[in-house]
Amino acid sequence: MSAGTLLPDNGTSNTAKTSARLAKRLEHVGFSDIVKVRNRVMELRASGHAVHAFHGGEPFFPTAEPIKQALIQAAVEDKTKYAPSSGIPALRKAITEKLRTRNQMQDVSVDDVIVTVGGAHALWVSFQAVLDAGEEVLIFSPYWTPIADMVRAAEALPVFVPTEEARREGLAKTLAKYTTPATRAIYYNTPQNPSGVVFSRTEAQETADFAQAHDLVVIADEAYEDLVYEGEHVSIASLPGMAERTITTYTFSKSYAMTGWRIGYAVAKEPFMTGLKKLVLYSTNGVTTMVQYAALSAMETPLADLYSRRDEYRRRRDLLVNGLLELGFECTMPQGAFYAFPRSNRIHADSREAAALLLDKAHAATIPGVVFGAEGEGHLRFGYATGLEEISAGLKAIQSAF
Ligand code: PLP
Repeated sequence: MSAGTLLPDNGTSNTAKTSARLAKRLEHVGFSDIVKVRNRVMELRASGHAVHAFHGGEPFFPTAEPIKQALIQAAVEDKTKYAPSSGIPALRKAITEKLRTRNQMQDVSVDDVIVTVGGAHALWVSFQAVLDAGEEVLIFSPYWTPIADMVRAAEALPVFVPTEEARREGLAKTLAKYTTPATRAIYYNTPQNPSGVVFSRTEAQETADFAQAHDLVVIADEAYEDLVYEGEHVSIASLPGMAERTITTYTFSKSYAMTGWRIGYAVAKEPFMTGLKKLVLYSTNGVTTMVQYAALSAMETPLADLYSRRDEYRRRRDLLVNGLLELGFECTMPQGAFYAFPRSNRIHADSREAAALLLDKAHAATIPGVVFGAEGEGHLRFGYATGLEEISAGLKAIQSAF
């Protein structure tokens, strides 16, 4: 029996067709282009080709043994039941301590911290907690691809602020150019994916002053806080007057090689924390209890280990960027994260063409810069969170093919 015969006529002739539609707020939300590169790499590998993998964004080292043991121990001790949806108290306490000492957030308390399913979830709940339909978010571009779609999923609008222009002309002046009465927030990512830019203390202060002058919220993404090679990492929420208007998001993915564990956290004051709590409760009801105990163990990692891994990344950065320069690429030395963002014109002016040529001819997988916004066009993203030998082999392959 057709549903149409039972339901009142609502003016549509085919009810089956109208029910099989996506919620309107998802119509303008895209899917990551990076997945397409990953699929092509898998095809190449399946057909027996070695691929020089510069497309990834995952640490090169395995999760440390004590972290794995902590997960197993938690399971053995039956720490397998519901935990408080905002996170186990011991983990929130350890995070609070870290925020005070390492991020200079002096007046942070345990109540300001919530544990999330990775940095991505922390960002998702932050945008949902802050944005109303039609509001605008200033995003320094090029930017980490999911951000624009997360903003759109909150029925808000991403507004792109070219990072290069902002650093050249001044952040406040450039932010002002893109600010309208609908502007509600600034997405502030340092160190940046994909460019490796690290905003200086002066730039953080300038952004903070701008946010205060225009009464804007700052959503600060510090996923790569432990990977700064030159300069310092400044948490914008640590600047005077900023804790109240900033939500800062973190992840265990990059610092502790825990991408697959899916755990991160956010720090915010009221009224935002109440919003974050509701959104975490109803989206996931918290993070897997055993994974939280593993994260607690990760928090005990000696700083010396974090620093020595940073040195390992620096070696990889220097090898890759100097190699690219020798091959005739134009590339600025990234100050943070684990990506280089050279110009693509050595291969092709169009970044998609350049990435396709590199993959087909040299079996070197990179991400076209345009994936990270119009401001990324004419660039390629090379991830260097891989082995030193793999970087050398990839550079050799590019040299032979071009
Ligand atoms: N923020 C940036 C800039 C990133 O590059 C990533 C991951 O690549 C994340 C946040 C979130 O990472 P995760 O969801 O693995 O914690």
